[in-house]
Amino acid sequence: MLVSHAGVPLTRATTFRFTLDVEAAEHRRLLAHAGAFRLAFNHHIARVRANLDQRAAERSYGLAEADLTPALSWSKVSFINEMNAWKDGRASDAPTSVDDDGNQTRGLSWRHEVSADVFETASVNAAQALSNWAASRRGARDGASVGFPRFKSKHRTTPTFRLRAKYSEGSPAPVRPVGPKALRFPKIGELGVRETTRQLRRMLKGGRFHVYAACFRYERGRWIVSVAGVAAQLHHARRGGDRCSPRVGLDLGVKTLAVAADADGDLRHRWEGVKALTHAQERLRLANQAFARTKQGSNVRKKAAQRLGKIHGRVAAVRAALLHEITGTLARNHASIVIEDLNVAGMVQNRKLARHIADASFGELRRQLQYKSAWHGTQLVIADRWYPSSKTCSGCAALKTDLALADRTYRCDACGLAIDRDLNAAINLARYTPAEPVNAPPQLAAA
Ligand SMILES: [Zn+2]
Repeated sequence: MLVSHAGVPLTRATTFRFTLDVEAAEHRRLLAHAGAFRLAFNHHIARVRANLDQRAAERSYGLAEADLTPALSWSKVSFINEMNAWKDGRASDAPTSVDDDGNQTRGLSWRHEVSADVFETASVNAAQALSNWAASRRGARDGASVGFPRFKSKHRTTPTFRLRAKYSEGSPAPVRPVGPKALRFPKIGELGVRETTRQLRRMLKGGRFHVYAACFRYERGRWIVSVAGVAAQLHHARRGGDRCSPRVGLDLGVKTLAVAADADGDLRHRWEGVKALTHAQERLRLANQAFARTKQGSNVRKKAAQRLGKIHGRVAAVRAALLHEITGTLARNHASIVIEDLNVAGMVQNRKLARHIADASFGELRRQLQYKSAWHGTQLVIADRWYPSSKTCSGCAALKTDLALADRTYRCDACGLAIDRDLNAAINLARYTPAEPVNAPPQLAAA
């Protein structure tokens, strides 16, 4: 565990995100870094690809395993060493360049114009991408299968790069605010930002934040930097929510994005997620149509693409703000939250639901609830996948087996209760009690 200079344990993974305010020269400089990152990544992927192809060809000629061209090491360390030798001109395959006087030099001629760290972080990323692919091929990795890493294209890949924050004894954080709206980065220097740096500055000053890395991304015409690191736990006054507040169940609905209710049957919060996005989505549809009507390569098309990108950005921002509001409100205000164990991948296959679920970003909502609960010391309970929260009557506990997705109101055949479907499910979730642990000590048989 990391402990700051002020003796504060730093355990909370945190990211500060800023939009950079850059001038033309700074923009070119950042693009050069992204170019170096892409070059280094592609360099490793190409070498490994060539090596694999070589070995496959040799095998097809009938060479024994021992006689094949040796396999390349994919470790992060060997990638970093190989990249350094290549760009500094020590490797046999290093690039060469000729200056104006006709002198030949070995190594990448512009390597000193960018931070050397970019070559290292790109090497680490390439090694990680290859190891993900290898693990997926062995079946040692959960989730969707991972293909062989693709080359980063200059035009199709979002320009991005990462700098690590290397602390040196006694000096200030390598990535730090140098004004209310300016940040300082190693090698790159000072850059203006649009948001205030106040919180980051205060946390660094109090030893409550330690920077690991700064990730740069150029999207929709702006540079975004994410300053990632670890922070101290929140002050105890901000932890634990309201201890007296009842446990709430959160139902992620289709009609409404989320409904929170307590075990007594009272509605605590309701968020109309899908509605908030419908308007932006209509604009998105129109912009898409306008884009489709333009001619390839024309200026009009370029403009239409920019407009489309802006609307995409707005939809994403509306959604992100909504998710943070939901998860923040719940984690801050309740001592215990119960959510469903939704199989999101399985639900998206259901075509009727697909758009709504994509809108609602359930997976992200759950991820945020998990880390924010940890911040605030809130208990997060995930109900068993088979717990019938929608089908149970919150009035009399009768089970309704024929509840269709289209039924927006739950009507109980046993007690006559009619209640909003999502609210009914939220109440049932609030009443959820986890099953006995499977590995409970066995009962002694009677003698
Ligand atoms: Zn009932």
